[in-house]
Amino acid sequence: MRATVMHGAGDVRIETVPDAGLIEPTDALVTITRACICGSDLWPYRTMPQDEAGNRMGHEFIGRVEAVGADVTTVKPGDLVVAPFAYSDGTCVFCHEGLHTSCLHGGFWGRNGVDGGQGEAARIPLADGTLVALPVGEDDALMPSLLTLSDVMGTGHHAAVSAGVEPGKTAAVIGDGAVGLCAVIAARRLGAERIILLGRHPDRIALAREFGATDVVSERGEEAVERVRELTGGLGAHSVLECVGMEESLLTALGIARPGGAVGRVGLPQGQSIPAAMMTFYYNVTVGGGVAPARAYIEELLPDVLEGRIEPGRVFDMTVDLDGVPDGYRAMNDRESIKVMVNP
Ligand SMILES: [Zn+2]
Repeated sequence: MRATVMHGAGDVRIETVPDAGLIEPTDALVTITRACICGSDLWPYRTMPQDEAGNRMGHEFIGRVEAVGADVTTVKPGDLVVAPFAYSDGTCVFCHEGLHTSCLHGGFWGRNGVDGGQGEAARIPLADGTLVALPVGEDDALMPSLLTLSDVMGTGHHAAVSAGVEPGKTAAVIGDGAVGLCAVIAARRLGAERIILLGRHPDRIALAREFGATDVVSERGEEAVERVRELTGGLGAHSVLECVGMEESLLTALGIARPGGAVGRVGLPQGQSIPAAMMTFYYNVTVGGGVAPARAYIEELLPDVLEGRIEPGRVFDMTVDLDGVPDGYRAMNDRESIKVMVNP
């Protein structure tokens, strides 16, 4: 079969790899019908040292079940399924606590002999715990929004939950990438009265306003902090959703949280430390969040997608086939595209 392999910075290839197939009795075999490229895929795209073996890529996908192992009971051949960006058993102590990304038996796509999502097919470990069957056909118009449940919509929701978004309160979202835009949707969905987006790209800001952003701040650094304070009567935001992961964006997030507020950080950290320890101590600012347990949120978010109350699929603005994946990476890296869908 054919799949995406990254060999180094800027070096993404479509190659013939071993066919996916059942190995364990808990596996499913899935033909991938939709996948996408993630903002987090861009970090290795910029920095990965050259490697002839390469890494299989992709962790967000929808597929059609072709076969299941003897122990699989929740999905069957012919089902259309969505996979979150980590696989998990659904039965261990952490899965029961809703933290599927820490599953004692789980893992991530594209590592340790597990297939990636940007390819023709994938073996799904722990299929019962990982996959969620979708009650629609594989070319349904909702496919882009359903695909976001594998990562970006769940990640935006995790930022909102971690930052304690509640009805009537003020939320600030840092970042106008796909996760930031989904975080705006999530903040509105949880009832935030005011949603301040910190972003600078006109097309993304326009979409954020349609998703529910009420104010936009395009300054950076200390100027952004001052602007948010002006907008909030000098108090700051109750909930700050940090969707970038750079040191500067985290510092801004901590600076605009009001005393007693919370920061939910879901941007993949590019540094090792959390700044502003003294300020957050004296202001009692909670710093929460982390890698999103996307699997935990699929059942909760799915009805809102199926019934059209949220449209996170609007973050996709480019579609490629498998051969177009390298150009999709380039387009996202050059900021020509917010998020690229792969239609293998
Ligand atoms: Zn588990």
